[in-house]
Amino acid sequence: MKLARNLIVLVVAFCLAAIITAPDMSFATEASAAPEATSKLNESQSSVSQEVGSQTTTGEQVAPQGAASQEATPVFDAEGLLAMASDPYGSYRLMCDVDLANIAWQPIEFHGTLLGDGHAILNASVTSTGQARRNTYDGNMKEYVTSFAGFFDTLEGATVQNVVFLGLNVDVSTSEPTFVGGICGYMDNAVIEGCTVGGDVSLATSGASFGVGGIAGFGRGRIADCVADVTLVCRDLDAYQKDEQFMGGAYGVGYADLLGNTIILRGYDSDHGYVHNGGMVGMYIVYDESANHAGIVANNRVQGFITFFEDNEDRRAYCEPEIGENMSMDAITTREGNTSDFTPDERFEYDRDLLPHTCENPQWTEEVIAGTCTDRGRTQRTCANCGYTYPCNWTPTVHEVREWSADGEPDASGQVVRKGTCTRCGTQVFERVSADAASSSTVTGEVPAGDAASGQSKVSEMETSEASGGIVPSHLIVGIVLGVIVLAVIAIGVVLVVRARM
Ligand SMILES: [Zn+2]
Ligand SMILES: [Zn+2]
Repeated sequence: MKLARNLIVLVVAFCLAAIITAPDMSFATEASAAPEATSKLNESQSSVSQEVGSQTTTGEQVAPQGAASQEATPVFDAEGLLAMASDPYGSYRLMCDVDLANIAWQPIEFHGTLLGDGHAILNASVTSTGQARRNTYDGNMKEYVTSFAGFFDTLEGATVQNVVFLGLNVDVSTSEPTFVGGICGYMDNAVIEGCTVGGDVSLATSGASFGVGGIAGFGRGRIADCVADVTLVCRDLDAYQKDEQFMGGAYGVGYADLLGNTIILRGYDSDHGYVHNGGMVGMYIVYDESANHAGIVANNRVQGFITFFEDNEDRRAYCEPEIGENMSMDAITTREGNTSDFTPDERFEYDRDLLPHTCENPQWTEEVIAGTCTDRGRTQRTCANCGYTYPCNWTPTVHEVREWSADGEPDASGQVVRKGTCTRCGTQVFERVSADAASSSTVTGEVPAGDAASGQSKVSEMETSEASGGIVPSHLIVGIVLGVIVLAVIAIGVVLVVRARM
């Protein structure tokens, strides 16, 4: 009998040890483990499910949860981006790609922080200048009260980091001095870092001074590690006035530092005044009285062309690979490592504006390119007549998520955030969807982020889906293995006890 008791103690000890050391046992052990162990595992439920995501995350950067997300308001959709206008000093973090195809985007005066984490803002269309007016300056330091357009109207003391803009279309017509840029029209002590801008920035104006930039229009601050792949168009609408015109692949006018940027530029500039064009900067000028400014224009790369005319007998026609006209030669203390493959392409016919596509009879063919884990989808439009081609109708990255779980309670509008892990690339994916859609626990096949409703079975309670999300298979396997071991040990014990009695 002593031997039998020892065996039972051994079996129990073995089982407990196996339960405590087994991986991924958070839910399998709830039913059988001692009360103390169960409560401990309940406490760690949320951290366990987060680890599942972070351990396997590759590819896209994903926002760390916890402290960081408390600082920055998470943005899942157009509504979240629009909220920046009502609290422009706030911090915001993109949690997924956001499509603005159906929004008439109004440029925002922004002073806060927008963190993209590599996510994209797609198909933003800006067709009017914002409310802000700021002074800008030409090469003679003449002041102009100026309007601005871009995804942001003005960035003042603001930071925009790791945001991808694709299918960005800024197309503005004005009758006053105006600067337009992809990300902002005006920047003042702003930082634009690690961003991508893909799209078209166009200005047509009868203003006296105006400019276009791939990333920013006018200003100062810092633009670093960005990629701009842009078509820039600038049209001077009043042929009788000698205007000041500026175009730069990164920015039009100012003295923002440029560090490590890549610019792929297709510029079209029609001007009846003074042209200042540069692959990186139209005109560099330290326009305030800070005499000790130590400027940086370093390690940037530009590739492309600016096709332009300067309809002006008093010709200057600046068009340089880096800086069109440098008004503050001594201000740039660091200017090294810049490379260019840039063509200044001057034309001498002034009766017709220069535009990217001028077919009399365009014939479009469309190729739809699906999104993948790493690339956004798009429609490539090509003119069969002349070969002109451009991408449009961008779509988010597409991940394959089989198990979704709700991430928090539904908000006032009945929407809830759900998360899942891509089975192909391991990226943790977040979406903001209706509470009904979030309770679906299974998705099969390729479901674009944002298409929450298709092909999913429904589970009635959200808690059910959260508790089971992604854990069921491993806990079943571990349970079965443990069961078999326990049964084997008991059987051996019984055999030994029976033998001892005989
Ligand atoms: Zn064509
Ligand atoms: Zn993926």
